Amino acid sequence: MTEPTRALPLVLTPPKGRGKPPRHLADLDATERKAAAADLGEPVFRVKQVAHHYFARLERDPAQMTDLPAASRDRIAGALLPDLLDQVRVMEADGGTTRKTLWRLFDGSLVESVLMRYPDRATICVSSQAGCGMACPFCATGQGGLQRNMSTAEIIDQVVDGAAAMAKGLVPGGPGRLSNVVFMGMGEPMANYKAVIGAVRRMVAPAPDGLGLSARNITVSTVGLVPRMKQLATEGIPVTLALSLHAPDDELRNELVPINTRFSVAEVVEAAWEYAKVTKRRVSIEYAMMRDINDQAWRADMLADVLNSYGDWGWVHVNLIPLNPTPGSKWTASRPEDEREFVRRLVARGIPTTVRDTRGSDIDGACGQLAAADA
Ligand code: SAH
Repeated sequence: MTEPTRALPLVLTPPKGRGKPPRHLADLDATERKAAAADLGEPVFRVKQVAHHYFARLERDPAQMTDLPAASRDRIAGALLPDLLDQVRVMEADGGTTRKTLWRLFDGSLVESVLMRYPDRATICVSSQAGCGMACPFCATGQGGLQRNMSTAEIIDQVVDGAAAMAKGLVPGGPGRLSNVVFMGMGEPMANYKAVIGAVRRMVAPAPDGLGLSARNITVSTVGLVPRMKQLATEGIPVTLALSLHAPDDELRNELVPINTRFSVAEVVEAAWEYAKVTKRRVSIEYAMMRDINDQAWRADMLADVLNSYGDWGWVHVNLIPLNPTPGSKWTASRPEDEREFVRRLVARGIPTTVRDTRGSDIDGACGQLAAADA
């Protein structure tokens, strides 16, 4: 008798010595907070006090939490607010109103966030993964591959840090409020869905359960992972969805956004339209303008036709991003006259169109330039 053949179990072992980021208050929902209090042998209101410090006062230093008993302050705050982000470097541009921070995570992974203050708002651009697996050839992050997903708290802590910088007046313009969050840093947010939606929940929950931000001021940007876009539409949190399209035709998009071979232009645009229909939120189509690659006048017409085929009820607008060239890339930004003509054609076909500013490009802090590996 021969041994029965056994299929090898498919075990995906994480690299040694890594494991998960420490558990943090921002990872916990209401039930988990209760359990955490029990673990600490403390009443639930102690956790609520810490939550008030973290989410409402943007305070992370236990010494400042004077309403906690002095004897147990460090133990309680230490257990609920472990350090997640170790600041490696801050770079400033635009007179200090753009600040890029490089963070080292507990396992040595490096990620970046960018805080941008405008006259009427302050936006933080956060990372959701260390690296990215989507391999878009024009994007700096895409070149290094994916290291790992970030936890909800690792995402939230970037926002809390930005909100604290605003509140403390560390950004020129006096003390202010962080109003907007964009998931346009490193990573593909829809490939780390659970942690990202957890972070979104914490952002919109009123203090002391969360940061009390408005869902419409949160933008989730995606290459177009269709099942996740559909799921996002069912969450009942009307965040703004941005779809990184970059080409209206599959032939070119297969090259620029390789995941297009799985989810085609027609499928991703349909999912974006569905999102707009369900949430009543206008979807943003991101289109990085690359000279002589995707910026031809006929492609503007084609883009308008693709979008208009879902109706012209204002469900979509196009946001053109001047390409930020990344080192060694063969792509460069469009000529001004080509960009103007592209805009003109979209507008002529009824598509609201904006051109994004290139804040922070001189500190490699603009869209697609975040590449922590070279730090
Ligand atoms: N993975 C998400 C978030 C990425 S960054 C996504 O793809 O949407 C946010 C935007 O910056 C995306 O639209 C991305 O395609 C764009 N981008 C990437 N590299 C760029 C570059 N070098 N110049 C301009 N925009 C870029």
